[in-house]
Amino acid sequence: MMNSPGDISPNKAMSALRLCSPRLLPSNPHLHRHYLSSLSSSPFSSSLLSRSLATFKKLPRSCLGSQPVLGMEHFWTRGSLDKNKTLVEHLQQYGVLKTDKVAEVMETIDRGLFVPHGSAPYVDSPMSIGYNATISAPHMHATCLELLKDNLQPGMRALDVGSGTGYLTACFALMVGPQGRSVGIEHIPELVAASIENVRRSAAAQLLKDGSLSLHVADGRFGWREEAPYDAIHVGAAASEIPQALLEQLKPGGRMVIPVGDFFQDLQVVAKKPDGSITIHTETSVRYVPLTSRSAQLQNY
Ligand code: SAH
Repeated sequence: MMNSPGDISPNKAMSALRLCSPRLLPSNPHLHRHYLSSLSSSPFSSSLLSRSLATFKKLPRSCLGSQPVLGMEHFWTRGSLDKNKTLVEHLQQYGVLKTDKVAEVMETIDRGLFVPHGSAPYVDSPMSIGYNATISAPHMHATCLELLKDNLQPGMRALDVGSGTGYLTACFALMVGPQGRSVGIEHIPELVAASIENVRRSAAAQLLKDGSLSLHVADGRFGWREEAPYDAIHVGAAASEIPQALLEQLKPGGRMVIPVGDFFQDLQVVAKKPDGSITIHTETSVRYVPLTSRSAQLQNY
């Protein structure tokens, strides 16, 4: 998110929104992080953020107390999307989804099957899935699929580290097809069990049954050697530095998308050239939950 002079930063915006209308923001700090990511990491969110900042700047100073502001609440719910197809169309309109194949896959894998019962599945926002984890916002799923699409051709191999609900693992499986491999690694056994159920209800069920899609309980910092090397690696949690095992398990010609950093993170795109050398560029700034040990993640849970 680029701030022009005079703009307030996403952080300040979050504080202001929280002060003005606390009911609009989740109480779970991990969700706050993802709200920040959804505000700051894509053209869609940039547009939402600048509109919210414009609204914020017009507010009387008296709102900076603890009173909820109805106008703000209206703004934030107005964009709510009620169907998966509508959600995908919005992501296309805002330029986050650029490729027909990626849009088709996101339309085919119904996000509603992957969010906990009672959540609003078609809103462009991350949601808590328990265990101090979240399902990422749709625009982040779309962004990562777009970044990896050339390495998700039929027959290719994909690794999804921190697979959570299994949503992206299922999308990868549809992209690479029955001749390819889509492997999800998640270190919370309950989330893996739930993700298997989610996939069983989805359009990727047959791929799970046939074994081209698999979900495993493991520490994703070590990758998954059994199916390596991978054409595409996605990491859904932020690493302090890129794990060596993941670099090793990336195929020459392969691509990895990984958030790197502690509090503020860069969504890095790592390319391994055919000669094995590595290039890295930063795509955008994001806020993800950390790639960490199970015990560290479950502290205070
Ligand atoms: N992309 C997923 C989940 C994102 S949240 C989705 O959208 O559904 C990040 C996930 O990474 C969480 O489920 C968390 O439990 C997992 N995670 C964190 N550290 C991990 C590790 N060392 N190994 C495996 N999974 C990890």
